[in-house]
Amino acid sequence: MSGIEDLRNKMDEVTLDMIQLLKKRTQIASEIGKIKKNTGKGITDESRENNLREKVISLSKEIKIDEAISTKFLNFLLNESIKVQSTDKQTHLSIFLKAKSLEMQGKSIIHMEVGEPDFQPPDIVKKSLEEVFDKGFLKYGQAKGMPIFREALAKYVSKRFNTKVTQNNIIVSPGARFSIFSAISTLLNPGDEMIVIEPAWPAYKDCALNSGIKVRTINTTIEQKWEPSLEQIKNIINSNTKMIVLNYPNNPTGKILDDKLQDSIIQLAIDNDLYVLSDEIYSDYSKKKWKSVLSYNYEKSIVTQSFSKSHAMTGFRIGYGITNSTIIEKMAKLEALCLTNVSEPIQYVAMKALEADTSDNSNTVQNRLDMLSQKATEMGLDFVIPDGAMYIFARINKEGFNGVQFANSALEKGLAVAPGEGFGDYKNFIRLSACQNEEILEEGMNILSKIMSEEQ
Ligand code: PMP
Repeated sequence: MSGIEDLRNKMDEVTLDMIQLLKKRTQIASEIGKIKKNTGKGITDESRENNLREKVISLSKEIKIDEAISTKFLNFLLNESIKVQSTDKQTHLSIFLKAKSLEMQGKSIIHMEVGEPDFQPPDIVKKSLEEVFDKGFLKYGQAKGMPIFREALAKYVSKRFNTKVTQNNIIVSPGARFSIFSAISTLLNPGDEMIVIEPAWPAYKDCALNSGIKVRTINTTIEQKWEPSLEQIKNIINSNTKMIVLNYPNNPTGKILDDKLQDSIIQLAIDNDLYVLSDEIYSDYSKKKWKSVLSYNYEKSIVTQSFSKSHAMTGFRIGYGITNSTIIEKMAKLEALCLTNVSEPIQYVAMKALEADTSDNSNTVQNRLDMLSQKATEMGLDFVIPDGAMYIFARINKEGFNGVQFANSALEKGLAVAPGEGFGDYKNFIRLSACQNEEILEEGMNILSKIMSEEQ
């Protein structure tokens, strides 16, 4: 008996030592975070992480510990560092919230920070809101969504994306955001790795961090026209890599990948048995040929869609995921746990919205984006003309430019823009959204031009 007691005491000691070391490591991470902030460095440094990863792998070989376990443990430690260093990360949402509170104080603000179309949802939405009470879609329901709605979505998706899905391939969620969250957190385990191509919508990273999943970042650049190289992706795949996230048309760059590159990325994912999470909520806003990931019929792909942008229904909070029925069941379990189900009246309204012709929305956004691109070019902003989506991601080529400071000072002058930092290591970028009418956008760009010339 004393043998086991001794061993247990030793184990306790080791565990407590590890906690002490964790505290020490976290304190160092926090100090590094302060230096990074003061010097304008990004939080994640892939090459530095890789360096440490190699050391861990080599030690694992030397002391004969399973490499898969030690690298998962490393991923846990790296995520802890990221958490302490990201406490005051500023994104488009922080600027949006500041803008809202300034508006409450009576200030008028031009919103070019947020991706929220100013136009109304289709007329049929208003009519359906009136009729839903009598239609009786008012109760608890299946976590996956109402069968009648999923059936309608399956037909819509099959026709729109030239594929063949049934209602068993669909899960309804409160916005695409929740389908993204549930795909990441139900399919991956703590310590697993997920590839994100940056610049990227911040929630992919945040969902992963929340679930103890390590994000491996592929940095793309304006010089590369925001195109990731296959080599870059190949180089970071290891036995812990479980998913790659794609988002084309892209927020914030508006990029659409060429077919050939997209085909190769999907093939790489298939060869390495990775899930492909393809967030396609901007598919209605593409100016160039665009191919849905659904067209590959890859059983480990999860496509997310939403009514937020295509139907201007941001506040309804309704979107959906499309994938194989086994994954749907897994995601549905989490949805049942968190939400029971998406509000039935909202599902009914969205089902009716599918009948609307939204091509005017696509044209409106396209025209605004063209106008914004033209204005930005005239102003000499450094950006790649977007292939789609609703944004321009522009670099400000000025020594020491900081997007967060700029966004905060622009707010005082009545213009809200999104700092690049929210989308990755892009401190000298800002994102401008084309969600207001031409007149307002023009006014916004004039304010921007004035601020920039004042800052020369
Ligand atoms: N994906 C991307 C790329 C987005 O930009 C957004 C919202 N801005 C979402 C998903 C979330 O959309 P929803 O409103 O459907 O949750």
